Amino acid sequence: MPPKQQKTKKNKKAVDLPENDKDKEEILENIKITEQNDELKSEIDSLDQFKFQKEEVNNPIKKTRKQKLQIEYEQSVNKVERASRKKLLDKNIDEDDKNQKQQTNNQLDNQNGNEEKSEQVKNQSEENNNQNEQKKKGKYNCRENYEEIYSLIKGYRDTHTAPVDTLGCDLQGDESLPTNDRNFQKLMAIILSVQTKDETTDLVMKKVVKEKITIDKAVEIPSSELKEIIKQVNFNGKKVEYIKNAAEVIKNTYNYVIPDQYEDLIKIKGIGPKVANLFLQCAYNKTVGIAVDTHVHRISNRLEWVSTKTPEQTRIELEKLLDKKYWEDVNNLLVGYGQSVCKPQNPQCQICPVKDKCPEGRRRLKGKKKI
Ligand code: SF4
Repeated sequence: MPPKQQKTKKNKKAVDLPENDKDKEEILENIKITEQNDELKSEIDSLDQFKFQKEEVNNPIKKTRKQKLQIEYEQSVNKVERASRKKLLDKNIDEDDKNQKQQTNNQLDNQNGNEEKSEQVKNQSEENNNQNEQKKKGKYNCRENYEEIYSLIKGYRDTHTAPVDTLGCDLQGDESLPTNDRNFQKLMAIILSVQTKDETTDLVMKKVVKEKITIDKAVEIPSSELKEIIKQVNFNGKKVEYIKNAAEVIKNTYNYVIPDQYEDLIKIKGIGPKVANLFLQCAYNKTVGIAVDTHVHRISNRLEWVSTKTPEQTRIELEKLLDKKYWEDVNNLLVGYGQSVCKPQNPQCQICPVKDKCPEGRRRLKGKKKI
């Protein structure tokens, strides 16, 4: 009987087993050894493969070569890519530069345009302002704007002294005399100052004080002697007459007390509105009207505050025009201004703070420019 074929897990070929047990065990033992050898071989192959891979990875030469190739490849790729990118970048930069330049040019153009427009607008604005100013000047009405004119002239007067500020009638007379005689000397100074410079009036008043001209002495002194004392002032003959008459009225009618009422004063021969108003201010600190002398009359007409022929007409018109708060100071203001700037013959319009507003000043300056 042939031996049974026995299949093994590793070796599928049929093995004819002998009949006896000893041979059978020997064959099975050989098969087992063979199978173990196959497993070992497989394991060794596996280990060799692993070893090869391990060597390949750990081999510095292979690694260097591989890395070198990889780097060269990467460099090659990057080089192409960089070149491409650089080209694109350069193109973009050029476009950006171009756009930037264009934008800058546009901005500069706009800026220049705006500056030109701004300059044009500015010039136009200045021109309009000048035209408006010219129109304003042309239409400027000193009478309607008398307060502005007053303020501008006052600004000048506040910083410039005139003779009236140190030699005015309010500063004249012997202060040591009794009130009535002291007031009488003030009245004399005002009468003497009419149509006379303050310097001359001051000179004459020094002689009056020295000669102790009181109310009684003015009544008693011969006209010729008084005329000799006051001979430097204009119209000295008439003024002797006025002074002696006033002294007699004050002594005899008012018992040495000079009236403090305007209406009483102007009844006395030789005392007109200007003298009366100034005296009331100087002696009694009363302001009931505007004292108008030749300076006030002239300047008021030059400014076209009034249009009058005589100082008395000017007084009436000024008292209608000016607010009462200006009445007390307007005489001193304009007398001093007439002495220093708005002089009778040659007004100093060039330095006048109202030269661009004053009709007379504009006429005079325009005429001088033509010359
Ligand atoms: S501009 Fe001349 S005229 Fe007129 S107020 Fe001045 S100084 Fe007098």
